[in-house]
Amino acid sequence: RTVYVNGDYVPEDQAKISVFDRGFLFADAVYEVTGVLEGKLVDFPAHAARLARSLSELDMPMPMPEADLLAIHRELVTRNGLEEGMIYLQITRGAADRDFVFPKGAEQGVVLFTQSVPGLADAPAARRGIRIVTLPDRRWGRRDIKTVQLLYPSMGKTAAKAQGADDAWMVEDGHVTEGTSNNAYIVKDRTIITRHLGEEILHGITRAAVLRMAEEAQLKVEERPFTVAEAQAADEAFVTSASAFVMPVVEIDGTRIGSGTPGPIATRLREIYLEESRANAI
Ligand code: PMP
Repeated sequence: RTVYVNGDYVPEDQAKISVFDRGFLFADAVYEVTGVLEGKLVDFPAHAARLARSLSELDMPMPMPEADLLAIHRELVTRNGLEEGMIYLQITRGAADRDFVFPKGAEQGVVLFTQSVPGLADAPAARRGIRIVTLPDRRWGRRDIKTVQLLYPSMGKTAAKAQGADDAWMVEDGHVTEGTSNNAYIVKDRTIITRHLGEEILHGITRAAVLRMAEEAQLKVEERPFTVAEAQAADEAFVTSASAFVMPVVEIDGTRIGSGTPGPIATRLREIYLEESRANAI
């Protein structure tokens, strides 16, 4: 597999980054994950826009124009013959002598790699639905910035697996914030309910697309907080992300949701999302 590191395309086992890179030492870095379907990028402009915002919130510039970033994404897809999966992009503040204060004039680090996931669109999990558990949300307060500080979500997903579940939703002040790596939704009486945007959650690119598609399909959407009890009493639940698309949730903390199988609205939204993403990918 070829990866991209600071201007070069190199075999993954020859890629090098500095031990002084602030992404490594301070999690002083942001990232994006873009889905790939039929060798094309899903919603790339929206990912680039969120990247620019994450960087600007941390006083970092875009290291190159969006068109150049797109060209690197496409080059990696071609070199690795990627058909289905995702591309990971990370931008760090760069390498500098270890100091908490942001360094001046460090050269930003830019790393990209691909992950092939054959059968991602036709995932068996989507036909079965996933089981989730809930955990307190102990992340920092700026979850709208897509930083690489993923230790707590990583602990959460590991704990979920240890309990025999697939993933975890995080709960703060009695309300669900989001999943470890996805946005969380419930459906009650044909209304889709998902937490409103703010600093408490990542502004998912898939979330924005799915809510637009839901409205186009005449479904009602309420952007507001919901409790775990409300979720357990819902007709359906699901999550969204660039790598899971729309994924039905069939169990929350051991309680079956609806009939315990993927709900009709989640299933329909997954179909619409995949169809539109294939049509609009670049
Ligand atoms: N919330 C969190 C915490 C995430 O890590 C992700 C995926 N990176 C999402 C939501 C979903 O965002 P997107 O649809 O842009 O992949």
